[in-house]
Amino acid sequence: MKIHEYQAKELFREYGIPVQDQAVITDAGEAEAAAQRLGGFVVVKAQVLVGGRGKAGGVKLAKTAADAAQHARAILGMDIKGETVEKVLIAPAADILKEYYVGLIMDRTTKKIILMVTKEGGVDIEELAVTNPDAIIKFPIDIVQGIDEAALAAVLKDVFERQPLIDQAAETVRILYRLFVEKDATLVEINPYALVDENTLAALDAKMNFDDNALYKHDDVEAMKNAEEYSQDEIDAKEYGLSFVSMDGEIGCIVNGAGLAMATMDIVKLFGGNPANFLDVGGSSNPEKVLQAIRIILRNPKVKAILINIFGGITRCDDIARGIIMATDQIDISVPLVIRLVGTNQKEGRALLEEKGFAVGDDLSEAVRKVVALHKGAQA
Ligand code: GDP
Ligand code: MN
Repeated sequence: MKIHEYQAKELFREYGIPVQDQAVITDAGEAEAAAQRLGGFVVVKAQVLVGGRGKAGGVKLAKTAADAAQHARAILGMDIKGETVEKVLIAPAADILKEYYVGLIMDRTTKKIILMVTKEGGVDIEELAVTNPDAIIKFPIDIVQGIDEAALAAVLKDVFERQPLIDQAAETVRILYRLFVEKDATLVEINPYALVDENTLAALDAKMNFDDNALYKHDDVEAMKNAEEYSQDEIDAKEYGLSFVSMDGEIGCIVNGAGLAMATMDIVKLFGGNPANFLDVGGSSNPEKVLQAIRIILRNPKVKAILINIFGGITRCDDIARGIIMATDQIDISVPLVIRLVGTNQKEGRALLEEKGFAVGDDLSEAVRKVVALHKGAQA
């Protein structure tokens, strides 16, 4: 899960990283008063969940409150990489003497949190990683042992050079690390971490991503969720306990188990089709889930056929069958369904479906061949 800069800065403030006062507005009419309150000389910043706002024209300095209002008007409604700007942040403009970068990421390979720090901040870090990777210092932090203070001080000395800055950066890193661990973040980033006067570093931008699987532990983080991050399909799928990812093919897939769902997509490709989605109905048996899965898949106008592939273990084939029947009763299924059921209660499931006129197979290759042929309009 991603949050906006203003939300990350609120967390920073709560944890003790100094951030500037800020106002967040959704209506350009509020900009002038907000800018006035913040001293007139302000920065006006688009709040979107994608990076590179500066380059896209979503970050503007204003000398007066009237200028700020004008910028806010221009930025609100702007499209930045497909996202429409609905909020802008207004903060006192800082004088930037130098831009550094400080970030923490979770590295799954080494199972460590990696501190990344560079003197070449301000620019896109992904770009810097390509053009000048040696400029980025990476410092792995062992999650059990925590930060090795002496080693951290040595790393920060190379980057920040002067003691007051090294001390501030070290304190910022300690707090960021605590925030990262306590809130189950996957990324936290300050870019630019700016030198705003000879002896002061400031977090002029803030970015945080969180582990979705840990959100249940953090109501405060969950409350910051932004609807624009997720498609309606993904929101609905989540509500019904389905793991769903949209893809751009034509064959809707309903499968139980993530591994089988991936294998099913591979086989669909192998036989010349393209999956419209990844969908795992999960291990539990629940006809309602199947109904909702079909409903979500059918919203996609590209879907020309649906493949249901169930390997019943904990999932019972008769529950899946009941879900399919519920769906056909409640919604107009305008595309062909190909059903493959094997495993627990296969016989019962099959009988229920055949009674309603569905053909049910137990051979996966045959089912996939059939669904690919059907979606191409050929005779199966
Ligand atoms: P991003 O492009 O989405 O990363 O947005 P940032 O918040 O990092 O802003 C982009 C750039 O705008 C920064 O690298 C700065 O150069 C500039 N900028 C942002 N805030 C200020 C500010 O308060 N004062 C000045 N002078 N420049 C700023
Ligand atoms: Mn930035």
